[in-house]
Amino acid sequence: MEFPAALKQLIHQPQNVAILSHRNPDGDAIGSSLAMRHYLDQYGHTVHVLFPSEFPEEFEALPGADDILVWDIHTEECKHVLRNKNLFIYLDFNALNRIDKMGDFVKDLPGKRIMLDHHLYPDQIADFTYSEPEASSTCELVYRFIDGIGDNQKINPTVGKCIFTGLVTDTGSFRHATNANVYRIAADLVDRGVDDTGVQDMIFNSQKEKNLRLLGHCLANRMEYMPEYRTALIWLSKKDYEIYNIQRGDTEGIVNYMLSIKDVRLAAFIHNQPTVVKLSLRSKGNFDVQEICKRHFNGGGHKNAAGAYSHDSLKATIQKFKDLLPLYKEALLKKN
Ligand code: 5GP
Ligand code: MN
Repeated sequence: MEFPAALKQLIHQPQNVAILSHRNPDGDAIGSSLAMRHYLDQYGHTVHVLFPSEFPEEFEALPGADDILVWDIHTEECKHVLRNKNLFIYLDFNALNRIDKMGDFVKDLPGKRIMLDHHLYPDQIADFTYSEPEASSTCELVYRFIDGIGDNQKINPTVGKCIFTGLVTDTGSFRHATNANVYRIAADLVDRGVDDTGVQDMIFNSQKEKNLRLLGHCLANRMEYMPEYRTALIWLSKKDYEIYNIQRGDTEGIVNYMLSIKDVRLAAFIHNQPTVVKLSLRSKGNFDVQEICKRHFNGGGHKNAAGAYSHDSLKATIQKFKDLLPLYKEALLKKN
C-alpha cells in the first residue's frame, strides 16, 4: 500500500480529528480507535473518539476509554464536537449506515476523510481508503498505517496495548483470521513492552457471574444442532433478555461456542434484542456467511463472521434462516 505524501502531511500537522467506529463497538473497533488516538496525540492533534452506541465494560480499562463520546448518550455534545472537525477517520466499518444516525450527520460536514477497514466491499466514502479484507483486524491495519507513514517509532506501549486488543478479539485469541503479519505485529508489540497476557486477562477473565449463567442457559436450553446441515443455532427471546437481565455486550462471543462442535460448519445466534432481531453468523473454512447475511438479511461482514438485523419477528427470522439451509446444503457438506 502506497501512502501518499499529502496524507503524511495531513497527519503530521495538527488537525481537528474525529475518530468514528461502528455500532456495538467490539475490541477491534475500540482498540483501533484508541490506538489511532494515542498515535495522533503525539502530533498535537485535537482528537475525539465517537461511537454510535456504548461499548462493553471490559474495555473500560483501555487508556483513553473514559473520554469516548457515545452518540446514543451524548448526542448534542457529539454534534457539537463533530461540527468543529476537519478530519474524519472511519475505523472498522465499510458503509455509513454502520454508524447509524451519526453517519447521516457526518456525511455532509466539510473535511477530509480517511477509512481503515477489513470488511468486504467498502463504500467509497473517504478521500483515502485503506481496505484490506485479508487483514485480521482493523488494529492490524492501524499498525501498518502508522508503519507505512514512516512513524513506526510512534508505536509506544500505549498505542501497542490498544492494537493488541483488536488483534486478540478479532482473531479469537489467534485462533482464526490470522496471517503471518498478525504474529509479527504481536511479537513486535510484546518486544515494545505490551503486556500480552494482561490484555487477554482484561478481555476474557472479566466476565460477570450472570454472563456465565446466560451462557449455560444458551447451551443447555436454547441450542439446536442440525447435523444434517452441519449447523447449530442458538436463539434468545425477549423474555430471556428480561430474565437474564441481558445488557449490551453480554451476548458477545456466545455464537463461537457452537463452532467448537467438531462437525459444525455454520453457527447462528439469533436474538431478540429490545428493539430488533439480531443475527450473528460464524463459519469454518470456505463457507461464506457474509454472502448469506448480505443476500438474505441485508447485512454483511466477513467470510467467517457476519451479521445482520431483521425487522421480522424472532420466530419468522429463525424460520427464514432454517429455510435457507437446504439451499446451502451442498456447500455446507463440502470438506473445506
Ligand atoms: P457480529 O455478529 O459480531 O455482530 O458481527 C460479525 C461481523 O459482521 C462484524 O465484522 C460486523 O462488523 C459485521 N456485521 C454485523 N452486523 C452487520 C450488519 O448489520 N451489516 C453489516 N454490513 N455488517 C455487519
Ligand atoms: Mn474488526
